[in-house]
Amino acid sequence: MVIGGTAGAALRSPDDGHQPPATDEGSWLVRYCIFGDVHGNLEALETILADARRQETDRYVCVGDIVGYGANPSDCIDRIQRLTRQVVAGNHDCAVVGRTDIEYFNFFAREAVLWTQQQLTPEQSSYLRGLPLTLELDGMTVVHATVHQPSLFGYIESAMAARQSFDAMTSKLAFVGHSHVPVTFFYEDQGEEIWYSQDNEVPLGDFSKTIVNVGSVGQPRDDNPRAAYAVYDSEQRKVTIRRVEYDVEAARQKIIDAGLPEVLAARLLLGR
Ligand code: ZN
Repeated sequence: MVIGGTAGAALRSPDDGHQPPATDEGSWLVRYCIFGDVHGNLEALETILADARRQETDRYVCVGDIVGYGANPSDCIDRIQRLTRQVVAGNHDCAVVGRTDIEYFNFFAREAVLWTQQQLTPEQSSYLRGLPLTLELDGMTVVHATVHQPSLFGYIESAMAARQSFDAMTSKLAFVGHSHVPVTFFYEDQGEEIWYSQDNEVPLGDFSKTIVNVGSVGQPRDDNPRAAYAVYDSEQRKVTIRRVEYDVEAARQKIIDAGLPEVLAARLLLGR
């Protein structure tokens, strides 16, 4: 991929405090890798991060749910801690450290929460405990579930829920996860209209506000087992949803070997 002025640029190190390279015009080139719902799936995480490097992303943002369901919660926390400080808490991250009730979790999710609690170091638990529910950075809002009620972990799955989140946004662009289904909602305040798109190429155009659900790295649920994440090019004002094949079989086998519910292994093959 060619980016203005820096075609063939070397890989940049992730979120390490260095400024991204400037274009010929002097504006900053920023290509974000925005990902979430990793759910302890290290194979999927490493694969999307390798793909993101090939896409020349230079900033990393996590929309939450590092843990829960998968067999490598500790490794996923370590990897993400080394990668970026821009991370929000998901409902599973909260559940594992008692920040939210697991009563409304289904049986399998609850089993995974209880198993995950045994895997984390005290430092990792306090890391999850300290994650914010929302982040505002570089003109975007980052939250796991909804902008209007971040601590309730509802879903943006209807025009009405989208409208509530649009009304709560102070930025023009928000990134969310939680449903494990990539989808983008657009809002035009002139006619008070809301659209959605499931295209993988999302030009942001002149919409008043946009909410992008980046899908799930570690447990996709749109009948597509490939790991999902987003590349956001802030200069071209474009979001691309990437789908990446990873070693599903290895992740599946680890879930079984760990003694986690087998349904959590089987669903990875199906992407649902
Ligand atoms: Zn999730």
